[in-house]
Amino acid sequence: MIRARPEEWYATETKPDGVTLISEPFIEEFYRCNIWHIRGRDRDLLVDSGMGVVSLRDWVPLVTEKPQIAVASHTHFDHIGCHHEFPERCVHRAEAEILERPGNRATLADPYVSDAIFTRLPPEPYSSATYGLKGAPPTRLLEDGDGLDTGDRHFEVIHTPGHSPGGIALWEAATQTLFSGDIVYDGPLIEDTYHADAADYHASMVRLYDLPVRIVHGGHFPSYDGARHREIIRDWLDAKERG
Ligand SMILES: [Zn+2]
Ligand SMILES: [Zn+2]
Repeated sequence: MIRARPEEWYATETKPDGVTLISEPFIEEFYRCNIWHIRGRDRDLLVDSGMGVVSLRDWVPLVTEKPQIAVASHTHFDHIGCHHEFPERCVHRAEAEILERPGNRATLADPYVSDAIFTRLPPEPYSSATYGLKGAPPTRLLEDGDGLDTGDRHFEVIHTPGHSPGGIALWEAATQTLFSGDIVYDGPLIEDTYHADAADYHASMVRLYDLPVRIVHGGHFPSYDGARHREIIRDWLDAKERG
């Protein structure tokens, strides 16, 4: 398989309200994390940071223009790879230890990472056999109801366990925008990881259904509107009820 050049590893796409999607196009879609950059007046938010196989700071100028708060929606390998590059790092208390010591089992790198998840391999010296994540000790632990502030924008932390115990979503009431992480997106949801919990998953879905959402930016797959948000969750809840 050919290798990508570092300058082509990341792609960016501008969304409304100062939001930019940063993605890794040479990772197969199912494994490709959406990295969300949210522009603020005093500081920006970076929600997730990809696999960490190419430096975000070196190759995406957007993330060096202002101080960034690097938030982890949760600590699976596809979401926290570049957190160590940023001095401010937030994660829910329940996954603080994984962000600090991100072993391959804890982050699901084992069993998911292999050459098969790429359409082009990351640049040298990447090798799937020796893939690992750098520890990024959190500088702030998040709880349900906490706020993240950029100076002119306010985001509420919603604890959404189920896919993993420390999953969080960020809710900006002013723009009715939800950054949902991996608890819900427009694609196959993962409910069977080693630290998934079915009762928590159900409660998180019920809670998110009631938000007056206008747009959802998920952890994977394309963004969608409020009608699709309610449809995805209603279908999911209906399927659970049918067993
Ligand atoms: Zn995940
Ligand atoms: Zn993911």
